[in-house]
Amino acid sequence: MDFLPIFLDIRDRKVLVDGGTTVAARRVERALDAGARVHVFDPDPGEEVLLLEHRDGVTLTRALPTEADVAGCAVVWGASETPDRDARLYSWAKAAGALCNIADMPENCDFITPSVVDRSPIVIAISTGGAAPIIARILRARIEATLPAAYGRLASFVSSFRERILETVTNGRARRHFWERMIDGPAGDFFLSGAEERATAQIEDDLANAAEGGAKPVGEVYLVGAGPGDPDLLTFRALRLMQRADVVLYDRLVGDDIMGLVRRDARRIYVGKKSRDHTMAQEDISKLMVRLAQEGNRVLRLKGGDPYIFGRGGEEIAELAGAGIGFQVVPGVTAASGCSTYAGIPLTHRDHAQSCTFITAHGRDGVLDLDWDILIREGQTVAVYMGLGSLPILMEGFIERGTNPQTPVAIIENGTLPDQKVVTGTMADIVEQARQAGLKGPAIIIIGSVVQLRDQLNWQALDRSSHALSLASATTQDMVNRTGPK
Ligand code: SAH
Repeated sequence: MDFLPIFLDIRDRKVLVDGGTTVAARRVERALDAGARVHVFDPDPGEEVLLLEHRDGVTLTRALPTEADVAGCAVVWGASETPDRDARLYSWAKAAGALCNIADMPENCDFITPSVVDRSPIVIAISTGGAAPIIARILRARIEATLPAAYGRLASFVSSFRERILETVTNGRARRHFWERMIDGPAGDFFLSGAEERATAQIEDDLANAAEGGAKPVGEVYLVGAGPGDPDLLTFRALRLMQRADVVLYDRLVGDDIMGLVRRDARRIYVGKKSRDHTMAQEDISKLMVRLAQEGNRVLRLKGGDPYIFGRGGEEIAELAGAGIGFQVVPGVTAASGCSTYAGIPLTHRDHAQSCTFITAHGRDGVLDLDWDILIREGQTVAVYMGLGSLPILMEGFIERGTNPQTPVAIIENGTLPDQKVVTGTMADIVEQARQAGLKGPAIIIIGSVVQLRDQLNWQALDRSSHALSLASATTQDMVNRTGPK
């Protein structure tokens, strides 16, 4: 972080804006919104500045500012678009000890003027550190669109209960849960839908309950699918629960980018499993979750992909249900779906595959216990989880049972992540291709003629995955198709 974000109190303080431009007008408005006394200077102010002339708190002087005008200012904004004038202003501001910002001259700025979403008393300020202001503007538009307009009023409303909550709910964690339930639960919903009286009644009820001891922290467990890796594939619900957790249990497939979205002060416990190197046995993970929840924690069990697809989520939940602990399960994008889509392969297609079978090929002693009769059927796609180590016996198994050795196969390693690698080939040569590419996993194997469609449907940029093998035979038109959506 190159800049420290802070919110400055400039109520009734003097602020100087130099310039008659549109930018100057925006600065004046911003300072006025924060309650400052604003002095604007320009010999020939533009229309937008003139419109502000009669607002309370504005003094417009039709001349250039002098060094004396800068004295006593909390903030000085230069927006004249005249380099000499800006430079002079900056040096005066420095001498006077005022914070100064000259538009479009980062070297003459003590601070960045952020993009702002104003839901006072909630204010969201966005900065890109000067790198790409347009991104800040786009982000602002998105936040404006998703944040209910009444959110600011909700903040004022709930804050009026602050003292009473502090007195009634004395345990710190229980108090945080109380606030969260109030804002994110029925009371907040009532308020945002305009039913302020019902919101008040709900909070009174909750406070009465809490006074009777009902607000002891109640633990629960969130079993959440984190998707295959790209944080953009998280669900809103996953993100909300990630932001609420007190403790998070995560495994190997959950990367740093996703962990970075978990509530900052949540305790993190790694329970990762790797074949033959189990960090924590399944029963121990389940017992740990039960214990943490019984202690009153909100426990987030974050799992790669979907928790109920080869994730043993069912077993973990059975233990919780047995112990009477409340839980929620949040589905995630499973690896077969996420990885194949990012590799440009549809799992089903009218002309190629009418069904798709998910299997795990976690070989034990070189033997795969699979229902081969189903797998060798034509007209389907087979997605194999945990199959990289068993790739040779898997391919042999298909070919021995009469599958065409030219059947296309793709292996996607680190799917949906920046280092995604895709290797394509046929049942006959994929083992060698995988060896040459040095794949280590995690990887998903996609078997079936849908793999051919990759040449037409790969919307990912070329550099996202290793196309070395399939590129060798690609036509120019193929390559154009692969460079991404238009
Ligand atoms: N519950 C998970 C699967 C867990 S089993 C899900 O729904 O996706 C772990 C296996 O998933 C890995 O061995 C690999 O086969 C696959 N997998 C998970 N993430 C992957 C990724 N980003 N790229 C490729 N394969 C992945």
